[in-house]
Amino acid sequence: MTTAHWLFGDQLGPHFLTPGAEGPDRDAPVVLVEALSVFRRWRFHRAKAHLVLSAMRHRAAELGGRVRHVRSETYREGLREAVGDDAVTVHHPTSHAALRLVRSLDRVTVLPARGFLVPPADFRAWADDRGGRRLRQEDFYHWVRREHGLLMDADAPAGGRWNLDHDNRERPPEGASTLGAPSPYRPREDDIDAEVRHDLDRWERDGLVRFVGRDGPRRFPASRREALTALRRFVEHRLAGFGPYEDAMLAADPVMSHSLLSSSLNLGLLHPLECVELAEEAWRAGRAPLNSVEGFVRQIAGWREYVWQLYWHFGDDYRHSNALRHHAPLPDWFLDLDADAVEARCLATALAQVRDTGWTHHIPRLMLLGSYALQHGWDPAAVTDWFHRCFVDGYDWVMLPNVVGMSQYADGGRMTTKPYTSGGSYVNRMSDLCKGCAYRPTERSGDRACPYTTGYWAFLHRHRERLAGNHRMAQAVRGLDRLADLDELLCRESELGDSPP
Ligand code: FAD
Repeated sequence: MTTAHWLFGDQLGPHFLTPGAEGPDRDAPVVLVEALSVFRRWRFHRAKAHLVLSAMRHRAAELGGRVRHVRSETYREGLREAVGDDAVTVHHPTSHAALRLVRSLDRVTVLPARGFLVPPADFRAWADDRGGRRLRQEDFYHWVRREHGLLMDADAPAGGRWNLDHDNRERPPEGASTLGAPSPYRPREDDIDAEVRHDLDRWERDGLVRFVGRDGPRRFPASRREALTALRRFVEHRLAGFGPYEDAMLAADPVMSHSLLSSSLNLGLLHPLECVELAEEAWRAGRAPLNSVEGFVRQIAGWREYVWQLYWHFGDDYRHSNALRHHAPLPDWFLDLDADAVEARCLATALAQVRDTGWTHHIPRLMLLGSYALQHGWDPAAVTDWFHRCFVDGYDWVMLPNVVGMSQYADGGRMTTKPYTSGGSYVNRMSDLCKGCAYRPTERSGDRACPYTTGYWAFLHRHRERLAGNHRMAQAVRGLDRLADLDELLCRESELGDSPP
């Protein structure tokens, strides 16, 4: 008798049903459980709830008679309703909590994880080989490229260099309000989306759940077909321009040349290997330059994979890291995505993007939203929770290293060598967001002081002792001694408190 196979809502692509020694039985009946408790427990962005439910329901529709699609309060109840006491298989889930759950159920056999490039045993062997040295992302990325033969010419990196970041850190083109890149793929909603929207309205009306943010029209793929269309459109039309302005921000062009593929990858609709192979093919065929292709491969085979491995490597306690002892709660205007309450143009723009779409690219996440939280000493676990709930691509595994480690430096430097934060001059250099702003990036005290500039110096001052011992921060910390207006600056910082800047 074939054993049923359970798919979590982020295991929706065909590679989660490929049979084999480490896969489900051939033609196994499939179980999908929509657990309402997940939506009750957290106040998600409504567009995220919509996307996940739409993707699960699209998968159920594709699988037709093969699927037992259950709507229940909890996973346990749903599984019982779907298969009773029968055995099921499931691929290794993507969070510590879900792994604990499936391991606690006797009749569930946990198969290896799918949807990533590097098996955990290979990562452990690589980490062991480092002999206690820092697990640098750059080293990891070179190793992944070698192991998978990605962008390699024999034993050497294609083009002779591993890292083309130097060509990919451009400021936005002077005077341009948009990059003018071909528009990204946007899906068209269907009857399944209408049903999802109807259910979400009803849940809200009946007081079962509370959401944040605006929902609709759906902007991200909910099926394999849509995700493949988005990938191909990106590679054919937008990849060529991906590299140079990867770190730049433009108020009127939130997407620029970014791929918008994170939610499809994280729902399991796309496999990372197909994304990087298609990008490499485009370079080999002369359709995209190496700096753009290397930049994209680095994000997926480097960063995404590294973050996944670190999540398991650091363990579940990593979420409680708080090296800087930051305990301030998030203010309501931030929790509610109330962009209209914010005067600082850069932060208002990023917050409005999150409110309206559940997405911003990596620099607004790191250098605007995350940086503001870091400068104001917000509790890193609450910041992580906020990112998780408010972003369409947010999942526990990807949030923890990115927010606890990279953005909030709460792990005291296990992931990054320095805190990522800056004054307004960085924002001014890399964007057009300071134009027309009520504040001045170069001013750090007084009524027109840029909140990021004030916040940056106040942050350095607060953590002076710790940061003075960090060779990448020591020079910045010494700069505090040259500030004639430090007291005034700190006064302005405390006056601002947790009101919107
Ligand atoms: P592109 O710029 O087109 O990059 C291509 C792909 O690379 C992305 O689709 C993504 O799959 C991958 N990628 C790049 N960097 C990372 C990274 N650091 N971690 C994981 N994948 C990466 N990414 C998420 O997928 N989910 C998150 O919840 C998430 N939270 C983040 C929070 C913070 C504070 C920061 C700094 C980064 C976070 N990222 C997260 C990484 C990155 O910002 C998003 O993957 C990216 O902005 C998604 O847009 P895109 O698909 O257009 O990406």
